[in-house]
Amino acid sequence: MKEIFDHVYHLGDSGCSVYLVNSNSEEGLILIDCGMSLNLIKKIIKIGLNPMEINHCIITHFHIDHIGACSDLKNFNKKVKFYAHELDADAIEERGHDKETAAKWYGVKYIPVKLEKRFKGVLEILKFGEYDLQCIHTPGHTPGSISILLEIQGKKILFGQDLHGPMIPGISNFDNYQKSLRMLLSLKADILCEGHFGIFQPASGVQRYINSYIE
Ligand SMILES: [Zn+2]
Ligand SMILES: [Zn+2]
Repeated sequence: MKEIFDHVYHLGDSGCSVYLVNSNSEEGLILIDCGMSLNLIKKIIKIGLNPMEINHCIITHFHIDHIGACSDLKNFNKKVKFYAHELDADAIEERGHDKETAAKWYGVKYIPVKLEKRFKGVLEILKFGEYDLQCIHTPGHTPGSISILLEIQGKKILFGQDLHGPMIPGISNFDNYQKSLRMLLSLKADILCEGHFGIFQPASGVQRYINSYIE
C-alpha cells in the first residue's frame, strides 16, 4: 500500500495490482480494477480512507485476476458503479464466459456484475470532481482492453494493465496489441501503473518499459 502521487495509491496485489484515486469530491474514491480479494480493498482503511466511499470501479479488461472481487465489492458497498469497454462487457455482465475471463484456469467461479456504462469507440472521459479520467481503448491483450490516463498537477499518470501481454489464442490480437503499445508510448506518460509489474517512472522509465514489448 503506498501513495504513488497525490491522491493516487497502489493498494497492493491480489491477482493484479489494484490502484485507487481519491477524487477529493462527493464522487468519492475510484478503483482501477478490483483484483481477486475484497480484503485488499478493505485495507484502504489503513491509509485513512473509507471503502464505503468507493463510488466507481473502472475495469480495464475481462480477466478474472482483474474482476474476481467485483461482486463481493458490490455486496459490500451497493453504491459502486462499474465501467468497461463494450467489447469486453458481455463477459463481465453475463455468466458462461469462462474462456474469456479465464476463471476456470484460475479454478474460481466468476459472479457477474452489471456495468453502469459500456465505453464505445476510442476514448471516453469520466469526470470525477477535478479529475478527468481518459479511458482509452487499447485492444490487443483482449478486444476491449482499456488504459486510463489521468493528469494531476501537470504529471501524466497512466494506468496500463497487462501491457506485457500475454497473447491468448482465440482472444488476443498481436497486431492490435502492437498498435496499442505504440499509441501508449506517444502519450509520454510520467508514471506508469502496471497490472503485474508495479510502477515505472520517470517518463524515460515508462518509455523503456513499453518499448520492451514492441517488436
Ligand atoms: Zn489480462
Ligand atoms: Zn492481468
